[in-house]
Amino acid sequence: MKVEISDIANLPTKYGEFNIQSFKEGPKEHLVIFSKDLLSTPVVRVHSECLTGDALGSLKCDCGDQLDFALKKIYQEKGMLIYLRQEGRNIGLLNKVNAYALQDRGFNTVEANHQLGFSADERTYEIVTYILHKFKIKQIKLLTNNPEKLNSINDIEIIERLPIVIKSNKYNREYLKVKKVEMGHLL
Ligand SMILES: [Zn+2]
Repeated sequence: MKVEISDIANLPTKYGEFNIQSFKEGPKEHLVIFSKDLLSTPVVRVHSECLTGDALGSLKCDCGDQLDFALKKIYQEKGMLIYLRQEGRNIGLLNKVNAYALQDRGFNTVEANHQLGFSADERTYEIVTYILHKFKIKQIKLLTNNPEKLNSINDIEIIERLPIVIKSNKYNREYLKVKKVEMGHLL
């Protein structure tokens, strides 16, 4: 894996002051946001990009709220957030918007992906192990509701799973139900 790594810079945010570093894997420019007092067994959140949820306040999913919860937690617990540029469960923005259009016509999130020729979830996590090894981190507490993620992160000992607690809204209630029932998320 050829990865280009940036210098570490300061990132003051509304949550507190973090350090930020970019890991460029092919065309994907991932980000690591971490505490200035990072613990040796940190709380880690692996968040996959969702432009509509993260930046536009979309209520179709819970990504924006999850990111907000995670950044608060990472700051409090002296941890790390790895922001992976795999938009729309790695089908990209254009396909995600097409999937949303299918959802407008009554398909659920999994069915819409299948209609477009993708699996329900196309995300990968090899880069997470790479990044954690670069930080010489061997053990983490993983902040996630997705049990698949526990199996997808290799060569790192996950000593604890911490849940993300988010309230549903009338737009994402059905989406969260599909995530729970069909994709095995622990909500
Ligand atoms: Zn989202």
